[in-house]
Amino acid sequence: MTALASPAACGPEIRQERGQRAVFCGLTGIVWLHRKIQDAFFLVVGSRTCAHLIQSAAGVMIFAEPRFATAIIEERDLAGLADAHEELDRVVRRLLERRPDIRLLFLVGSCPSEVIKLDLSRAASRLSADFAPAVRVLSYSGSGIETTFTQGEDACLASLVPDLPRGTETPLLVVGALADVVEDQFARLFDDLGIGPVRFLPGRRAADRAAIGPGTRYLLAQPFLTETARALDDRGATRIPAPFPLGAEGTTLWLAAAARAFGVTPAKVVAVTEAGRARAGRALQAHRAELSGRRVFFFPDSQLEVPLARFLSREMGAELIEVGTPYLHRTHLAEELALLPDGTAVTEGQSLDDQLDRCRAARPDLTVCGLGLANPLEAEDLATKWSIELLFTPIQGYDQAGDLAGLFTRPLARRARLEA
Ligand code: SF4
Repeated sequence: MTALASPAACGPEIRQERGQRAVFCGLTGIVWLHRKIQDAFFLVVGSRTCAHLIQSAAGVMIFAEPRFATAIIEERDLAGLADAHEELDRVVRRLLERRPDIRLLFLVGSCPSEVIKLDLSRAASRLSADFAPAVRVLSYSGSGIETTFTQGEDACLASLVPDLPRGTETPLLVVGALADVVEDQFARLFDDLGIGPVRFLPGRRAADRAAIGPGTRYLLAQPFLTETARALDDRGATRIPAPFPLGAEGTTLWLAAAARAFGVTPAKVVAVTEAGRARAGRALQAHRAELSGRRVFFFPDSQLEVPLARFLSREMGAELIEVGTPYLHRTHLAEELALLPDGTAVTEGQSLDDQLDRCRAARPDLTVCGLGLANPLEAEDLATKWSIELLFTPIQGYDQAGDLAGLFTRPLARRARLEA
């Protein structure tokens, strides 16, 4: 089912589409979040399917001490719920005895009906009281019924906000899991701009909790943080509207938005960002010939699609056939949408078969999609890029702009080699 939403005189053409979807559930976020918060542990309360998903999504990485696991809750009736709570308590107790390094434990809900019946937020409060102050226990849902893919990160970060102290000590909070190397680069740039102290959510350790309150301004580093932003707004913090820091242009506009909010002059922004812009410009130049004029089709998956499309079109000269996104937060993405070429086809939601038909008819040079669609499309001789790689790879900021472009040129180069 397709509906045309508020056609604008110019700007992108946004349509909504409903139907069958092919998107990961929010449990997937654990795969990058557990690397970010170094003393946290993610305990998925789920089924064997959930355990398999987490294992196979994370299977490429080997850890001596993994920071996630699945407590498998088998089917049981309502009468067995008390046992399920006791079992969960037992699992948590055993885990914390074995792993005294854990300071923050997330109970992550999933979609099997026997898990939905469990009240994980109550379980988290009970366990938090038992293990305080050494360990805090929080809960959120990564269920495929409630969340897609990156919404797992949103739910996780939103669960952290009520746990942050109230205060005015944080003038700027950067929100969204970033690789440590990227975070360090941004911290230096904000410092050079004279903005600070800057704190990041999530922090690298459980004890790293920024005090938030009225007077805190926050800058989203990821476009999929609707619930987290709502929780920060409820705390009295104010969002700084900005595009996202992907590519040289996105990074400059993101920093400039923060600079404006803190009264830093445009001349200072130009001076502070000059070296970074030059490095990014050189790195992007190496990929531009490969991407210029290439026709790109985005299936909805990560919610990064609109900023990525803006980067590919404006900085790399690619042509956008369709930009699918599972959800479109029109306020958080307003600055991004304004930068897309007029008439860009943006589709919110998904009707999988219809979208596959449009993709096949268009025969794009590159299709950005989830893992499940990549193999069938490759078999039809279409070059694909797994959108999940855009979450695992550091891609934000000036020094990662070349790597970001490289993620798109690699499948094209591989295809060219195969054809040769
Ligand atoms: Fe599947 Fe639901 Fe578990 Fe995700 S949470 S792996 S969709 S059963």
